[in-house]
Amino acid sequence: MNFPVSLQKSWHGKRFNSYNRVLKDIFGARVYKIGLRMDFTCPNRDGKVAVGGCIYCNNASHTPQDYRSRATVTEQLEQGAAALKMRHRADRYIAYFQSYTNTYDSVTKLESLYREALAFPGVVGLAIATRPDCVDDEVLDLLQDLSQRSYFWLELGLESMHDRTLQWVNRGHGLREFIDAVERAKRRQLRVCAHLILGFPGESRNDMLETTNLLNRLAIDGVKLHNLHVIKNTVLEKYYNSGTLTLLSRHEYVSLVADFLERLNPEMIVHRLTGETYRAITVAPDWSVDKIGVHNAIFKELDQRDTWQGRLYRVDDKGERSGAAISDCLQGAPQ
Ligand code: SF4
Repeated sequence: MNFPVSLQKSWHGKRFNSYNRVLKDIFGARVYKIGLRMDFTCPNRDGKVAVGGCIYCNNASHTPQDYRSRATVTEQLEQGAAALKMRHRADRYIAYFQSYTNTYDSVTKLESLYREALAFPGVVGLAIATRPDCVDDEVLDLLQDLSQRSYFWLELGLESMHDRTLQWVNRGHGLREFIDAVERAKRRQLRVCAHLILGFPGESRNDMLETTNLLNRLAIDGVKLHNLHVIKNTVLEKYYNSGTLTLLSRHEYVSLVADFLERLNPEMIVHRLTGETYRAITVAPDWSVDKIGVHNAIFKELDQRDTWQGRLYRVDDKGERSGAAISDCLQGAPQ
């Protein structure tokens, strides 16, 4: 076996740098995320950037009467913590501002919500998911302050590094905005996790793997991978039903994730290997509702190849990480 013993030890036998393992090492116990759904909306739906949202986003799930929670941060944390205590005897949590665009409000309101979460017993950290065009300097200054008092992650949706894909999904921002947000966040020493979707039509395997060069060059701290899946009541569902959309098979996705991990900086923390969805709202692919099955298939693929995260990652003599310069990544991106 070629898998280096030093990595086997520090990654506790896993072939990638897993977020759960990192949390356990830092806090000495398993730490669980509690997802929060606050009363935010999104500039890609309310007309500020666009209307209609990303084509894979479930519009119905964002209507106030159907979906938006009226529970406070504390109430949601109480509910989540009670369930986790019962199931796992958990007593440490990360409050995860997960749904919608969680920095899309006044800084005063954001600060009060985030601080309410940090005051909840057992909350050791915050994770805040948002769009790269919704983190101005004032918001980042607030996040920097919070990051000095807690274990903090800023989760930025990139989804694809290719502007033609971002336009196709009506994302409302491009690669340029992502790079700008990351650079401003890193100047404030924030940990940044990039959200990515693999399997967009029109992207070749190489197009998707090219993203590892961008992440390595930007010194992104963490990554969340997700396969493209079709949710009910979305524009994507219409494309799928019309027969114009081809999705990755489970085998293709598993093999692609293994290729992706091989090229990533081994210091990057892998928060997620596949998406999480529910059968009731999933149109396709069928395999994506079996998260554990997909995980196991990825672990098996890494074992069979005797490979690991970072096996193909290189730092050259000048200390440059593998991959094209950021300016090359931006070539052709809209100004
Ligand atoms: S940015 Fe997020 S919340 Fe807004 S439309 Fe896209 S997926 Fe939905």
